[in-house]
Amino acid sequence: MSTLLKDHTTFRLGGPCRELRTVRSTDAAVRILERWTATGRPWLPLGGGSNLLVDDEGLPGHSILHLAPSPLPLAFPEHPDGEGGSPASHPFWAGTSLDALAAAACAAGLAGLEDFSGIPGTLGGAACGNAGAFGHSLSDVVAAVDLWTPARGLHTLPAAALGYAYRSSALQRPPLFPCAVLRVHLALVPSPGGPAPLLARRAEILALRAAKHPDTAQVGTAGSYFKNLPPAEPGGRRQPAGALLDAIGAKSMRVGGAYVFPKHANIFVTDPATATAADVHALADRLSSAVLDRFGISLVPEVRPWPPAPTKG
Ligand SMILES: Cc1cc2nc3c(=O)[nH]c(=O)nc-3n(C[C@H](O)[C@H](O)[C@H](O)COP(=O)(O)OP(=O)(O)OC[C@H]3O[C@@H](n4cnc5c(N)ncnc54)[C@H](O)[C@@H]3O)c2cc1C
Repeated sequence: MSTLLKDHTTFRLGGPCRELRTVRSTDAAVRILERWTATGRPWLPLGGGSNLLVDDEGLPGHSILHLAPSPLPLAFPEHPDGEGGSPASHPFWAGTSLDALAAAACAAGLAGLEDFSGIPGTLGGAACGNAGAFGHSLSDVVAAVDLWTPARGLHTLPAAALGYAYRSSALQRPPLFPCAVLRVHLALVPSPGGPAPLLARRAEILALRAAKHPDTAQVGTAGSYFKNLPPAEPGGRRQPAGALLDAIGAKSMRVGGAYVFPKHANIFVTDPATATAADVHALADRLSSAVLDRFGISLVPEVRPWPPAPTKG
């Protein structure tokens, strides 16, 4: 029986794939990827499915490698200070929940992940899309990734080779795509004040998110749909796409079972009983056309489409 991808995405949308294999370790992932590649089977990696819009037709020809958290406890290095002034980096399984890792790092007194508290999904997904919040991106703390590609198998690339930019990386585009990130090396630094300030920051961020975001137990969502815009002046802050969307009346817009979250014009939500991926695409097209007509600005989706459009970055 084929697996429905809507059961693996936070939008709760998406048709069938050929097969879905859940892995919890690098060795297990490599074994499966080698087998699929030897048989010429197309595959894609999946983390928490929290940044994905999978078509209603699904990907019936594709095998999906689902990276899930390891049952092993999270371990941090005993001496994270490193040498020569730069922090040591430590590898973590890419299927680790980013939020669980942020919680554990805060409790261990290691700084660098606290601002990513509450971002759903896996460390690997965050490393590919360069997830971030509050002016920080995961690339701030990524030292390297261990990735598997059909051409090179398992190998390590330093962050400098990953083409990191705002909510994007070279991992999303050929020649690295398709690849599976299996471990992410993070450089976390001991907090001078110990765990307390990190835990306080985490609590503050979780409260902000709870007030601002939809209740994912009730509705489908993938967070912000479009990327924010470049700063108006060099060194300035990014301009929120939500402000433009608000100005064109997005908060009252709906297509079928997909609509804009009333508290945040850049967040789309779906009614799990009625929405289709086609509804979300149509809503996104309607909104981006209205922004283009009114402001002459083309919005770029942050949510990744499946089937993928890797060359669009
Ligand atoms: C309520 C809510 C709030 C959110 N808030 C934020 C936020 O503040 N900031 C932010 O940046 N994002 C946010 N997001 C979006 C999302 O959580 C992040 O983009 C997250 O990092 C995606 O990780 P994932 O494991 O779910 O990736 P998936 O959705 O599973 O995958 C996304 C893409 O990455 C690829 N991919 C996933 N794992 C791997 C891997 N190991 N190797 C290679 N490719 C891989 C997939 O093939 C796919 O193309 C939010 C989403 C929700 C639902």
